[in-house]
Amino acid sequence: MSNTDFALAVEGLTVSFDGFKAIDDLTLYVDRGELRVVIGPNGAGKTTLLDLICGKTRASSGSIKFKNEEMSELPEHLIVRAGIGRKFQTPSIYENLSVFKNLEVSFPRGRGVIGALGFKCDQVVRDKIDEVAQLIGLADRLDVESGLLSHGQKQWLEIGMLLMQDPELLMLDEPIAGMSARERELTAELLLRICQNRSMIVIEHDMDFVSRIAHKVTVMHQGKILAEGSMAQVQADPKVIDVYLGH
Ligand code: ADP
Ligand code: MG
Repeated sequence: MSNTDFALAVEGLTVSFDGFKAIDDLTLYVDRGELRVVIGPNGAGKTTLLDLICGKTRASSGSIKFKNEEMSELPEHLIVRAGIGRKFQTPSIYENLSVFKNLEVSFPRGRGVIGALGFKCDQVVRDKIDEVAQLIGLADRLDVESGLLSHGQKQWLEIGMLLMQDPELLMLDEPIAGMSARERELTAELLLRICQNRSMIVIEHDMDFVSRIAHKVTVMHQGKILAEGSMAQVQADPKVIDVYLGH
């Protein structure tokens, strides 16, 4: 496989904070349509990796190619426009707006064909909202004020807000933190549905959840990759048991 076939190619990525390498010469490839899970102990650099990919943090060196285009010098909004969406650990929905409004304001406007569609625009947005609401299980909650949703529903809404932009790479940082068992189950189903036509990187700790969703698992430790492979492969890896799973 040539490099151009990857959705994401991270090579030699390093970032130092006051001399401390939070990410240390890291190389990682994610296929198109792949759901990759990143695990590892606290402080391993998982969140920092996502910060670098979405442009929130600048790399000290190395390369981040998305569909073979260099992202590491681009401002955050152009990285979003290139097709990379990222969800942070805490939901950032507009609590005083309805579910519908939250999805509506997330629709990317003023570019390409939508701007030229004129009055048809409303219907395009409406259809997209219906499609996304269906996907995230909130189709019957569109008029509800978002602040009244359960914790899990708020997380799904935020995923929905990202889906309004149709990202080709979606990155989620600990999406099931604080969720009930039932919500975790529904989230696993949701992620498996939405990765059908995009790549995903999910950071998660819950091993049952990871084994349900992961195509491949990357284990990080001290800013580097400790192991990579199938869930079974990394679970059986003595290095991984030693620094992470054994605890
Ligand atoms: P993880 O998500 O795997 O728990 P993080 O990526 O949050 O780990 O953090 C990795 C390391 O980098 C930690 O030691 C953290 O304190 C440090 N770090 C992360 N972001 C910054 C920053 N902006 N400035 C300084 N240190 C940081
Ligand atoms: Mg983190």
